[in-house]
Amino acid sequence: LNRRLAGFGTTIFAEMSALAQRTGAINLGQGFPDTDGPESVREAAVRALRDGRGNQYPPGPGIPELRTAVAEHQRRFYGLEFDPDTEVLVTAGATEALAAALLALVEPGDEVIALEPYYDSYAACIALAGGTRVPVTLRPSGDTFRLDLDELRDAVTDRTRLILLNTPHNPTGTVLGRDELAAVAELCVERGLLAVTDEVYEHMVFEGEHLPLVSFPGMRERTVTISSAGKTFSFTGWKVGWVTGTPELVTAVRSAKQYLTYVSAGPFQYAVAEALALPDAHYRELNTGLRARRDLLADGLRSAGFGVFRTAGTYFLTADIRTLPGQDGKEGRGAADGVAFCLALPERCGVVAVPTQVFYDHEAAGAPYVRFAFCKREDVLREAAERLRAGR
Ligand code: PMP
Ligand code: GLN
Repeated sequence: LNRRLAGFGTTIFAEMSALAQRTGAINLGQGFPDTDGPESVREAAVRALRDGRGNQYPPGPGIPELRTAVAEHQRRFYGLEFDPDTEVLVTAGATEALAAALLALVEPGDEVIALEPYYDSYAACIALAGGTRVPVTLRPSGDTFRLDLDELRDAVTDRTRLILLNTPHNPTGTVLGRDELAAVAELCVERGLLAVTDEVYEHMVFEGEHLPLVSFPGMRERTVTISSAGKTFSFTGWKVGWVTGTPELVTAVRSAKQYLTYVSAGPFQYAVAEALALPDAHYRELNTGLRARRDLLADGLRSAGFGVFRTAGTYFLTADIRTLPGQDGKEGRGAADGVAFCLALPERCGVVAVPTQVFYDHEAAGAPYVRFAFCKREDVLREAAERLRAGR
């Protein structure tokens, strides 16, 4: 293993899902739905396979039908115009989009600002690109995590190349508001920075609204926007994502992408093109269904004794374990340790969660928090909450 990847080990998601399998615990760790997306979308994939559409290498930038559907989606939901031929790129999930964007845009030695806690692939891809990550910590404030705009401003140096944003934010559930995004945009313009913005949870906002960073003044020419069908249509195994941006930026990302995977799985692209055109009811039901499950799990965690942060978006809840017996520094057991807590939880309660600390450089800042995914059936969430209550 080269030095750039040393220290990254196995992703926490694989580790915690393996732990769930080994112990038979309920897996609220890795974020994937336990119910597949719409039947009609699955049928569209079957039809494409059967009709022989996409069974051989599809075009490098993605099939035209999907690029057009992505552009249409940006117009329909945000009034944004992208040229499907030059401003849209299909990728192997948002993960490849992130990797290709960072590999294409970051020079060795460049600094990349990322909101901490950050999605784990950010750190690894910044490292692969030879960049230096500069974390800006989201600070707990009441029952949410907040971006401190002064801290963000102070993090910019002459070596900063880009800001890697994520809203709605995994794992905290924070949704950046208009004022915050306007300030990020202003900073990018003022300091000549690019933005790569991971908006895979764009349709999972329960409070406020999702505002694409690219829609702010001066951002159209400097923003790479990333999203994914895995989230919006609940088919995480299909690995279809996309990038939108200027022809220059999309061409740059494509230059890296072509040597990573060349293209992404063909038949699924046809199905996702159809999925993006689903009526508003699909998007609404995804949202209302998840909101109900958020509330159910939040209530369950609270009655099991956790402190619970408010999730404005995503399908994750962050819980504070310091309110639990034995984690509060009393009873002679030391300070809260989310990692030890999550490692013991499957045996103790039959539930798997993810320690938020692994998404931090400033580990102590994340130690008291654990992340639970609520993209699961209601009976599963109820059972998990009951187990946590009984086993605390
Ligand atoms: N970004 C974030 C913030 C995520 O939570 C995920 C989740 N899996 C991804 C990117 C990756 O998406 P995909 O599965 O489409 O690669
Ligand atoms: N995005 C999902 C999560 O945050 C998992 C993706 C993965 O396993 N890489 O849990």
